[in-house]
Amino acid sequence: MKRIGIIICGRYQSCGGGKCFRSMRERTGGFERYDRNEQLEIVGYSTCGGCPGGNVEYVPAEFLKNGCDVIHLATGLIVGYPPCPHIRQFKAFIEQHYGLPVVVGTHPIPLKYFETHSKLPFWDQTGMKDLVPDLMAESRDVMESYN
Ligand code: SF4
Repeated sequence: MKRIGIIICGRYQSCGGGKCFRSMRERTGGFERYDRNEQLEIVGYSTCGGCPGGNVEYVPAEFLKNGCDVIHLATGLIVGYPPCPHIRQFKAFIEQHYGLPVVVGTHPIPLKYFETHSKLPFWDQTGMKDLVPDLMAESRDVMESYN
């Protein structure tokens, strides 16, 4: 059993979480790392609170009270326009302050976002290829199915 908290980008605060929950069920994207036989439970779901992400300081405490084992930063942080500039700081802060491992990514990168980012001049500068190599290695078919 893994108890998971998800933090989404505040720009997508009205998101219903469909892609995240689907990928958790299908063990794709950031959830591919978990064995299919291992039970996954969502124990928290919140936004960063909007730029610059003030809720990241507090919301992991609530997740922890629910037994959280790991926090996922949603894929929206990676593929928003522009990508969140604070991803690495969020991950480092949560891991250091709360002692919780942080996985960057939830659902696979939708192909339409991937293709647009690949044409933008700042995509390479974001270093996403190094930050989320598992998402970058996802098959084109899977990416397209998350469009
Ligand atoms: S870009 Fe980053 S800090 Fe801004 S709303 Fe999205 S996740 Fe939060």
